[in-house]
Amino acid sequence: MPNTRKPTSDRRRCKKCNRWAQFGSEYCWDHDPTVSDEEKHAARVRGGKASRKVHPLALDEIEDIADTTDLKRFTVSVIKGLVAGTVKPNQARALFTGGKVLKDVMELQLYEQLAERVSALEGDTAKRLESNGEWQISDRS
Ligand SMILES: [Zn+2]
Repeated sequence: MPNTRKPTSDRRRCKKCNRWAQFGSEYCWDHDPTVSDEEKHAARVRGGKASRKVHPLALDEIEDIADTTDLKRFTVSVIKGLVAGTVKPNQARALFTGGKVLKDVMELQLYEQLAERVSALEGDTAKRLESNGEWQISDRS
């Protein structure tokens, strides 16, 4: 199949930064002297607002991740946003990384709770055995 794309040889590189120049110009949009600072600023503000709008998750939804059910709901929201195109792949990766950190914290909390329960059970068992005369304090290692 022949390459039907227009040759790019007529397209120049920016004289200042070597990015692609705008068509009919020797500069990229950032360095184009015909684009005013006000226009550049306005475009950056629009871009910032647009990229914030892309985010489909409400902030309170993220703050309310307290258990595995919440974490699952959060993960499904990110996947749905990814499929719908409202979450960009790099945003999804960052959100999944945050989700994994939360999962790790939840696991640590679980280990701490289990350790406390095991410790309490050991204490109860030792007291019961001692009161029955079956176990001396010195037996505990
Ligand atoms: Zn440039």
